[in-house]
Amino acid sequence: AENTLADIVSHAKEYGFVFPSSEIYDGLAAVYDYGPYGVELKNNLKQLWWKAMTQLNQNVVGIDAAIFMHPLTWKASGHVDGFSDPLIDNLDSKKRYRADVLLEEKAAEYENAGDQARADALLAEMGRLLTAEDLAGVKQLILDEKILCPISKTANWTDVRQFNLMFSTQVGAVAGDSSQIYLRPETAQGIFVNFLNVQKSARQKVPFGIAQIGKAFRNEIVARQFIFRMREFEQMEMQFFVRPGTEGEWYEHWKETRRRWHEVLGLPADKLRFHDHDKLAHYAKAAVDIEYEFPFGFKEIEGIHSRSDFDLTQHQNLSRKKQQYFDNDVNPETGKPYGNYVPYVVETSVGADRLFLATLCQAYQEETITEGEGDKQQTKTRKLLRLHPAVAPIKAAIFPLVKKDGLPDKANEIYNALRHDFRLVVEEKDSIGTRYTRQDLIGTPFCIAVDHQTLEDDTVTVRHRDSREQTRMPISELHGYIAQAVSP
Ligand code: ATP
Repeated sequence: AENTLADIVSHAKEYGFVFPSSEIYDGLAAVYDYGPYGVELKNNLKQLWWKAMTQLNQNVVGIDAAIFMHPLTWKASGHVDGFSDPLIDNLDSKKRYRADVLLEEKAAEYENAGDQARADALLAEMGRLLTAEDLAGVKQLILDEKILCPISKTANWTDVRQFNLMFSTQVGAVAGDSSQIYLRPETAQGIFVNFLNVQKSARQKVPFGIAQIGKAFRNEIVARQFIFRMREFEQMEMQFFVRPGTEGEWYEHWKETRRRWHEVLGLPADKLRFHDHDKLAHYAKAAVDIEYEFPFGFKEIEGIHSRSDFDLTQHQNLSRKKQQYFDNDVNPETGKPYGNYVPYVVETSVGADRLFLATLCQAYQEETITEGEGDKQQTKTRKLLRLHPAVAPIKAAIFPLVKKDGLPDKANEIYNALRHDFRLVVEEKDSIGTRYTRQDLIGTPFCIAVDHQTLEDDTVTVRHRDSREQTRMPISELHGYIAQAVSP
């Protein structure tokens, strides 16, 4: 049977991956906390991304910019005027909806009923109205489609209004317009405003990139689907600065590079697809989403955008500081250096939390297994996380077979020899079968059993999570064995 999102949510909670925020107060909508295994898994994903972007590319360097930025940043980026969702309220239920989401759900209904043409037509009409900012038209479409409030089964809608998604707060002691600032809704702008600082201090030449991992905040209205859409989330973004005219090649390069990265870490090719944006933002030359097939359908996990010189030019205009680069490579057509220009940008932007959710959905499996021999043979269901060892929270669990005869000491000796390089645990309690089960549930790829033979010949039994096969191995080989498995 297919796993549902509910299975994932309850597994994540029960086994220490993700908890609702402030749960003892009944939680806070669309905000979540990562538990002991969740934080390890998320850190692994972030470190692997960071390594793939910076360590493996000499021409990509990192920064860590502040969450608070000068308010003009968001004027320049277009977020003050344009970063909004069309909202509509139902007067009976007093529930608030995103108008575009109501229409998308209606289109999905047509699609599921086999009427693709009608679904496409509805989405096209919605796109046209939203682009033209015809909010009255959007409301009319909702009425024409006879969309009812899902709660009260009525169509008693207000007008559609644009609602800005940025959270604002005050700096300093005095509240007022001049001290209003925003929590950043994306990490990208911290990169753009530091473009020249980074280029000069790290002595980079175009083409080069700047990578950043950090929190972003959006006052999302439709907060559903667990950590897929959060109000506080984490982004991993890279802006790649290129000479105008070369952005097409770099766009293709990063599109393929990023897709391969997801595949290497365990998202299978048949559950990933590219989805080209039909409607492009006014500054964009091309934009594509990498989508993963979640239990609730194919949805975006990463965006790759060819953004032209829009952002740097906007910052140049508002800050009145030149955002230019002098390129002394010789242009073969003119025989002279390319000279001064505002670079073009190709961006890759992935949500750490969405990637986490995709990873968890992919890894979570329930399978039927047969255990024991002869009369004692029995069939049971096994739940496990088939995580790539590189992302697994715990790389190996060490089990002394019994709590005596010096076996726990031997287990701790192995732990101490390996703990500097790998996240490990030693578990002494319960039967060995129960201990295996517990590790399967959190996705530990290897369990190392220490028995009486270990004391004689320094070998251990390594049990493999996915196949449940066991192999005997000298302790001296463990390090190399785990190291190989956890490198992607
Ligand atoms: P969506 O259409 O799903 O709202 P978006 O197109 O607004 O996403 P971008 O602005 O391109 O998203 O952000 C880049 C990435 O950041 C997304 O691919 C996603 O992984 C992540 N992201 C965006 N919004 C959220 C959110 N509210 N919660 C979790 N991750 C998010």
